[in-house]
Amino acid sequence: MKTYRIAAIPGDGIGGEVISAGVEVLEALAARDGGFSFAFDHFDWGGEYYKQHGRMMPEDGRDRIRGHDAILFGSAGHPEIPDHITLWGLRLAICQPFDQYANVRPTRILPGIVSPLRNVTDKELDWVIVRENSEGEYAGVGGRVHQGSELEAATDVSMFTRKGVARIIRFAFELARSRPRKLLTVVTKSNAQRHAMVMWDEIAREVAEEFPDVTWDKMLVDAMTMRMVNRPETIDTVVATNLHADILSDLAAALAGSLGIAPTANLNPERDYPSMFEPIHGSAFDITGQGIANPVGTFWSSVMMLEHLGEPVAGARLMQAVERVTADPRFHTPDLGGKATTAEVTAAVIEAIRSAND
Ligand code: NAD
Ligand code: MN
Repeated sequence: MKTYRIAAIPGDGIGGEVISAGVEVLEALAARDGGFSFAFDHFDWGGEYYKQHGRMMPEDGRDRIRGHDAILFGSAGHPEIPDHITLWGLRLAICQPFDQYANVRPTRILPGIVSPLRNVTDKELDWVIVRENSEGEYAGVGGRVHQGSELEAATDVSMFTRKGVARIIRFAFELARSRPRKLLTVVTKSNAQRHAMVMWDEIAREVAEEFPDVTWDKMLVDAMTMRMVNRPETIDTVVATNLHADILSDLAAALAGSLGIAPTANLNPERDYPSMFEPIHGSAFDITGQGIANPVGTFWSSVMMLEHLGEPVAGARLMQAVERVTADPRFHTPDLGGKATTAEVTAAVIEAIRSAND
């Protein structure tokens, strides 16, 4: 029997609540399947660790998880620590050295969940946003000088490489090709950002020639926000820069009903390093410790992890269980307008896994 070694890093805030729910559900799924099992290693890295050790994870942290089959991640973000320290010290400290350059963010309206868009159906809103996850605006290039003086200056330079752009656009074309509609939208801002974004457009045109069976168009990011709201049915697969896709995918999550259900995969497609799976949401300080965090984003991220591990049948079984549960408003957490707790939703999903008669 195959045993998958998973590094679980809950991080801060509701991260611990949703990751323990995810681990429970994955254990139930493996028990139901019988063909594989999980060995979870738990790492207490994050804000509390930082308060004790002055860093978000140990110096050899990456070496401790490099050999795992996948990483299940909660959230980096602590109320007492500046966000740029928690983000760069943990999440980006894993994503960037592990070259998880493809950040894949599916959005769909799950059964029982109401979109804030009027009259939109689940057939009209079924997207995958591909976010460049290794460079661009989050390359970390820049500096700050003369702090405390009126000469103070700061720069954040977005840095795009031809290799980095070509590989994410090629990844997106391949993903678009694998989906029924074979439709890709390349998002840039090449009117105002006249260097790197113009290079994106050029590279998109070049790569598109390898994919004559994929229909593609391009769109400026500001216009894209309007298209997502007004003409959601014209969109299928989307590729955009690190910053642009970060923003578009939060909008997508809200249009699909709640940030609490949105999943993401940080993929190293070459599999030189483990890939990382996490809900899109953050630490949610406003509801931490109340037991009402929506675990669906973590469950859906676990589905993506199963697909990546080569267990698509188990992945589909988990997704079906999640959809059976979201279809029942008794199992909606407060972010979806309901009264259910994290534990109730988790128990319902486990019950749906056990009682599935396939
Ligand atoms: P957030 O996602 O933590 O919260 C935004 C809102 O959505 C809050 O009202 C919250 O209660 C709600 N929400 C989020 N997830 C939910 C869930 N699972 N169930 C129910 N409601 C949910 O975003 P924020 O407030 O901008 O950030 C809080 C902290 O998290 C910050 O420190 C930020 O840096 C960090 N953060 C981390 C990540 C990450 O690690 N990937 C992502 C986003 C934010
Ligand atoms: Mn974000």
